[in-house]
This record gives sequence, structure tokens and C-alpha cells, in this order.
Amino acid sequence: MKEIHQRRLVMVPAPFEGHIPSMMNLASYLSSQGFSISIVQTQFNFKDLSPNFPDLNFFTINDGLSESDLKSLGLLEFILRLNSVCEPLLKEFLTIHDDVDFIIYDEFVYFPRRVAEDLNLPKMVFSASSAATSISRCVLMDNQAKGLLPPQEARSQLEEMVPEFHPFRFKDLPVTAYGSMERLMILYENVSNRSPSSGIIHNSSNCLESSFISSAQEKWRVPVYPVGPLHMFNSAGSCPSLYDEEKNCLEWLEKQETNSAIYISMGSLAMTQEIEALEMAMGLVQSNQPFLWVIRPGSIIGQESLDFLPEQFRQTVAEGRGFVVKWAPQKEVLRHRAVGGFWNHCGWNSCLESISSGVPMICMPYSGDQRVNARLMSHVWRTAIEIEGELERGIVEKAVMRLIVDHEGVEMRTRAIGLKEEVEASVRIGGSSYSSLNSLIHRIMSLTS
Ligand code: UDP
Repeated sequence: MKEIHQRRLVMVPAPFEGHIPSMMNLASYLSSQGFSISIVQTQFNFKDLSPNFPDLNFFTINDGLSESDLKSLGLLEFILRLNSVCEPLLKEFLTIHDDVDFIIYDEFVYFPRRVAEDLNLPKMVFSASSAATSISRCVLMDNQAKGLLPPQEARSQLEEMVPEFHPFRFKDLPVTAYGSMERLMILYENVSNRSPSSGIIHNSSNCLESSFISSAQEKWRVPVYPVGPLHMFNSAGSCPSLYDEEKNCLEWLEKQETNSAIYISMGSLAMTQEIEALEMAMGLVQSNQPFLWVIRPGSIIGQESLDFLPEQFRQTVAEGRGFVVKWAPQKEVLRHRAVGGFWNHCGWNSCLESISSGVPMICMPYSGDQRVNARLMSHVWRTAIEIEGELERGIVEKAVMRLIVDHEGVEMRTRAIGLKEEVEASVRIGGSSYSSLNSLIHRIMSLTS
């Protein structure tokens, strides 16, 4: 029988901002328990993580794909290409490194599945999304195959509930803005092909979505390990940030009253139309509440600078009621006592960070799983307001007031704090996510003896 440190695990993260940190948190935890971990990264979007994780080994596979391929192919086609290019390269890597015992791969880089099958290696899928998202992809595929999806232009039908998938409407299903439905179905078939694996790891918690986790277990008939939120487990390192974090916004928050400020951030990918940014700016001015707004460089389509924002907005910032940064230390911001609400696109990491800080949200989803997450936040946990349709300054103003000032917001905050306490309990010794991590470790041990 091998000692734990002799068991070598290969982990393959998807090369996207919203996916890498959660897998690295898991890698770090497994390494702290004694496993020998090798991270296999694609050369596309390569980031040197080794200084931040000195206990892990790092390897790169030369996929030859670049940012310009991503631009010309579009995200969906690019992911399909990345998977087909990487499969033989990983096989070559594993033929040379023939002491690998186990593979964990992100669901969006599914190329290790066939390689592991060919080499007879046990494997598990890692999902950086919610279990509800995993199920929603299958619901979308079933409805598409049966011809039951309303056409995009049939707006009233899109508002209808999906049968047997409460509380999601057809418009909440994870369609994409980055390619055709036909190609999306091919991607989702691959992403959802999990049955031959030894388990599914979710960056989620039983205390958040036990019914969707049970559904996943029934559907794929393999153990499901909800081990999140992974950022709450103390890990040896943390991923370098996409941009420099502007920590001076924490000093600005210090000057604000408790629960008074709205924090606005749309994650690492979402792009905003100029008109939306303009309406947001004016709505924030009209709300009379303090605001901290992340405007990522290049995230407003067609605008390189912020000069187009109106004088009234700039004056509000100059007077100190508003603060604008390119990138914020988000987890610290959300934990600050002054932050009373979070306006977000509903990326799953941001949702988990908001939940673990007890901050209610205003959800403005753009595409993919964000609609599913928005519905979880607004209709399952009821800790968020969902914004739909065109953004106008009056809508921004009203939403901020509802969340920060009105009784409705106070109730949401109370529920958000309750959820935070449940999540905190789940990562403590004996809690559900902590126990799930232990079960995962036992399972890996039994499969690599
Ligand atoms: N983030 C950050 N500072 C910012 C904006 C975002 O650190 O100013 C981080 C945030 O904490 C989260 C990640 O970027 O961990 C965004 O991931 P998410 O899944 O929410 O959205 P995505 O970027 O994948 O759309």
C-alpha cells in the first residue's frame, strides 16, 4: 500500500479566471493533506502560479492556441477546439509521467476523460459551478431534443416555468451568447458526460442546494462531493489576481456608515454597453447612497476611458460619495461592514463570496449559468433582487434604495446573514462541506491504493 505522499494526483484547471482559483483552493487543500499534486495547465492563458503554490508541481501542455484564436473562433468554438487539441498532448504527457494515480479535471476541459479511460486511470470531474447549473444544462438538452424550447423571439413563452424544474423559467436556462445552440449542445454533452467517472466534486455546499445535489447524484449515479465554498478553507496560497487590486478603496469604505454602500462589479468577463454604463452612473448619482464601482479596463464596449460619463457623476465621485476602481480586493470589500449590497452579474464565485459575507445582492445576469444563479439567489435563498430588461437610471436608483434603505432590503440582509452562518458551519470540523472533503479524500485513497 502506498503512503499518502506517494499518491500522485494530476489536476487540470480550465484556463479561465472564474475557474482557476476554486480548483487551486482544492489542490492546495489536498496537498496539505499529504497528496502529491501536479497541476497541468494549458499554454493558452498561461499564468505562473508556482510562486503562490510552492508545494505543488506545475506542467504546461503546448496547445498552440492564442488570444486571437479565442477572438476569431468565439468562446464556445474555442473551448471545443481547446479540448480536441489538448487530448493527444495530455496522453503524451501521461505516457511520459507514468506514475500518476488519479486525475481531477474541470468539467469544461473534459479532454482528460478519454485519456484516463485509455490509460485505465481513475478520474473525477470538478465543477466550479452550482449543482443547479449542472442539472439545468441537462434540462436544456432534454427540452432542445424534444423540440420544447420556445423560440427566442417568443417572449411570453420564455417567461413560463420549465416543467418539473421549479423555480426556473425557460429564459433562465443556460443558453449562451457565444455561439450556436447546435454547438452548445455538443459542448454540454461533453461537459455532462460524467457517469464513467469516480465522482463529481462541486464548489457548492449541501446547505445551499441539497436538492440539486441529490438530483445530480441520482442523475449520474456516482458520488457527488459538495466541498465548497472552497475559498473558505484555509489554503496555503491564493491565485494571483487578474489586475492589481486597488486596496485604497478599503480606506474609502472605512469612511462610510455601516451597511450604507453598494458595491458594483461584473466579474472578469462581462462586457457592458456604453448606454448601460451611463444609466448605471446616473442611477447611482440619484440613489444618494455611497457606491464603490469596479470598471474593468476595456469592459465598456467602444470606450477606452471614462470621459464619457456625465459631469454630475464625476462630481459625485470628486465629492467622495462614490469611488471607482479598475479591480477591487473583492473578498475583503464584501467582508467590510460598510457594504450593504452587491450589484453583480451572478458569476458563481461572486455569488459564493457574497453568501459567505452575508451581503444581499442585486442580480443582473448576462449569459450562461448566471441566470440560473440569479434565480437561486432571488427565488430560492431570497437574498437578492433580480433586474430584468433594459437598464435605466430610475431602475438603478430604485433597486439600490430597495436593497440598502427599504425594509425589504433589511429582510434580505437578515436572510443573507442566516445563510452565511449556515455556510460557515458547513466548512467547520463536522460540517457538511468539511465532511464531504474528508469523504472525497477517502474515496481517492481507496481508488489509488
Ligand atoms: N474579482 C475581484 N475583483 C474585482 C472583480 C472580481 O477579485 O474587482 C474576482 C471575484 O472575487 C471572483 C472573480 O473575480 O472571485 C469573478 O468570478 P465570477 O465567477 O464571479 O465571475 P466571472 O469572472 O467568471 O464571470
